[in-house]
Amino acid sequence: MSSTVTKPNCDLRSEYDMACPKCRQAEALSIEITCTATLTINGTETNGDHYWDETSSCSCDECDHHGTAGEFRIDADKAV
Ligand SMILES: [Zn+2]
Repeated sequence: MSSTVTKPNCDLRSEYDMACPKCRQAEALSIEITCTATLTINGTETNGDHYWDETSSCSCDECDHHGTAGEFRIDADKAV
């Protein structure tokens, strides 16, 4: 039985290096994503792929702080 490394605290900080710069919570952030959809005569059907980047609009679910996703990213070398 091999030991697997599990993360004790799974949040946005550990998974994506992201957290709210204002209230510091890393549980839930609202990010504006871009996705593609296939348009047919029956309407649109969204494809599974979606993406967002540093310039995507982002807001905190907790304190309603608005900014870009880049502002919510934690720099490893930036001491906070
Ligand atoms: Zn916040």
